[in-house]
Parts: sequence; C-alpha cells; structure tokens
Amino acid sequence: MVVCKFGGSSVADAGQIRKVKSILESDERRSVVVVSAPGKRNKEDDKITDLLYRYNDMVRSGQSCRPVFNVIAKRFSEIAHALGVEEKELAEKLDDIRYQIDAGRGADYTASRGEYLSAYIISMFLGWEFIDAADVIVINSDSTVNDETYARLSKRLESGKRYVIPGFYGVSEQGVVKTFTRGGSDITGAIVARALSAELYENWTDVSGVAAADPRIVEDAASVPELSYDEVRELSDVGASVFHEEAIAPIYHLGIPINIRNTNRPEDAGTMIVPQAKRGGLAGISVKGGLSRLSLRRLMLFKRSGMRHALLTMLHIFGIRPCYSLFGIDSIVWYFDSRMASESVCHSMCERLKGEFALDEISVDSGYAVMGIVGSRDSIAKGCMDAVAALSREGIDVVSVNLGSSEISALIGIHEKDAKAALKAAYASLFD
Ligand code: ASP
Repeated sequence: MVVCKFGGSSVADAGQIRKVKSILESDERRSVVVVSAPGKRNKEDDKITDLLYRYNDMVRSGQSCRPVFNVIAKRFSEIAHALGVEEKELAEKLDDIRYQIDAGRGADYTASRGEYLSAYIISMFLGWEFIDAADVIVINSDSTVNDETYARLSKRLESGKRYVIPGFYGVSEQGVVKTFTRGGSDITGAIVARALSAELYENWTDVSGVAAADPRIVEDAASVPELSYDEVRELSDVGASVFHEEAIAPIYHLGIPINIRNTNRPEDAGTMIVPQAKRGGLAGISVKGGLSRLSLRRLMLFKRSGMRHALLTMLHIFGIRPCYSLFGIDSIVWYFDSRMASESVCHSMCERLKGEFALDEISVDSGYAVMGIVGSRDSIAKGCMDAVAALSREGIDVVSVNLGSSEISALIGIHEKDAKAALKAAYASLFD
C-alpha cells in the first residue's frame, strides 16, 4: 500500500481538494492519507497555521481577536460548503475550538487545529475514516517520535480500510497536544508509512520534485529525478525546503522510497528519494542565510584538553547552538543562527569567554550565509572547487570552505548580501 501526504497548497481550497480526491482514486493502493492545514491560495493569502498562531498570541496578550478567528472559521466553512460536507457539525467543532483556545490551551493545541479540521473535512468528503493524530502519535520532549506510536498505529489501522490522518501533531507522553516543528506533516506521513511498512510514501506538494537549486532564485533550475536519503537531509540542512529534514528518520532503516509529486501536475514523475541513489554526480545546491560567525583564537588552543568542550558548554549557556564548525590549531570558527542571540548577549558572551579562557581574540559578526553543494562522493571535491572558482570570477568573497566533514557535501561560507548572486553563479557553473 501507498501512504500519501498532501501539503498546505494541495488542500488550500475546495478545487485543490477535488484534485486530491482524483489522485487518490486513480490508484487503489493509495489507502491512507495525511493532510496539512490549508495553505496559501495566492501570494497575498495567509496560511491557516499562521493565522492560528496569530490568534493564540492575541488571546495571550489580551487583545481583541474575534476577527482573526472569524477569518479562520470562514475559510473552513467555505471549503466544507463547496465540497457539500455537512456544516452543522463543523460549526460545533469551530465553537468548541474557539472556547478551548480562549481558555488558554496554548500554542501547540491552537496550531494543531488547522490540520485537525482539514483532515475532518477531507475525511467527510472522501467518505474515509478519520483518525485523530492525538490518539495515535506520541512525541517525546526532544520532538522525536515515541515508540509507543507504532504500537498504537498498528492496533488502530486495519488492512483494507481507508483513513485520513491530520499531520503536524500528536500528544506528549503526558497526553497533552504537541506539534512537530513547522512543516511537520511530512514527519507524520513518514511515521504512518513506517507503521504500515508501506511500499511507497508519496509526498504531494506544488512543485514537480526537488529542484537542483531554489527556483525562486534560479528560475530554470531543473528538478532532480533521484536523490538519496542522506542527500535530502544535507540539502534541507542548508535551506532547501521541499521536504522536512526530520521526516527521513522514521523510515531510514526500512528503506521506504519517498516520491515528491505535484498535485497540480500529477502526470509528472517528480523526485524519488531512496536509501542509495543510482545517479552519480552532483544533486543540488542551496543557501542558508541569517547566520552569525563567532571566531576565536588562542595560541596552542588545541593542546588544552577539554577546552573546546568547555567553550561549547559556555555557548550553550548563552543560548547558542552552532550549526557549522571550522577548526585550526590555534583557532575555531562557529556559525550559528543569528536569532539565537541579540547583539548585547553576543557582547557579554565574548567578554566572558575572553576572560575565562584567556583568549587572544574573539569576535561575533552577523550577515553570513552558507552555500551547500550536495552530491555523490566522487563529485564533491571537484564541485566545491568549481563553485569557489565561479564565485571568485563574479568577485564574490569566499569566507570559508568546509570540505570533507561530510563525504557528500561541501559548505562554502559567504556574506549574506551575496547569497543570490552566489547561488546563480554556482548553479550556472555546476549544472548548466
Ligand atoms: N501546517 C503546518 C505548517 O504550516 C505543518 C505542515 O504544513 O506540515 O507548518
């Protein structure tokens, strides 16, 4: 059997949901479907999940927020009406949800209601059974999936039946509604695929597969027919957004293939994500911005056992968890997400580290980005060198190069202001 997950744009309105129905009906192996909350219908539109978070913030700060809830309720009522789904029960559900949010059930409960209502309406429309994710998915405090989930799912799902399950949430070990991080319906789809040992996990979105570079920047970027699990994780880590990086984990050891497909162009084959890709050469490039760079120096730094560990512990105390590292004999560079610490926090941290570890130099600067080049082992070194050459031809400053820590990716540090130009130049040199 095949587990399908449909993202926000695929369930944004009644017209999109009709496409979902015809996709499901065109292959009877497609018997379990996971859905997101309605996404944007056009560029100016709001995602239901964003509206729900906004509503919850307003409730918390005591602002008048009824109009925001009315927008959410209207959107669901319109979808139900257009699909001929009975509206009385939906209206009761909406009333209860508003009551619960106003009573302070919190951000996770509030955000989860987008997926809950979406799955409820779609199950009524398809005539398939609805399963509340809160009854079957248990999420640990570190956001990993609790093994109890698989026992619950196998008990609940009977073969030969058809089900709709909301994505994005489950419950904590204490039974309180808890969400994954944004885009987490991909993870729910993977969990269900694993529980059922599915032959295939289809992930339906609004693009025909994973592009070799962000098509909003490189307009003609080609979609890649095949990627390995590890390549997808590396690409998501440097900002590619088609598939949630944590969604590989539930199916990693089972080797279930994932097919990224386009709801608006079901005839396209999309991208297959498999344990080991047969394709050679480079897979794609991506850029992640919004980074700060901490660099520090001390003579004989690496002779001092335990110092690197102690420095990292101190960074954690200041709320900083580095995402990329570079080490020299007397120096360390750590990149981290700039949102983790304000300028004043960075200033106090530098003062403290300098004094406590007798550093010769320490500084934190913001405005950096990292470009990741991902592909097969034998293509990475040449790809990295070609990309660096392309950037220098364009006069783009290369701040760091990290080649070899992962055998299937190279990371090039650049200034964030150059991110778009760098991606275009590297794409032209590596893929055109
Ligand atoms: N609706 C949630 C979000 O917007 C989860 C998802 O779509 O996967 O992040």
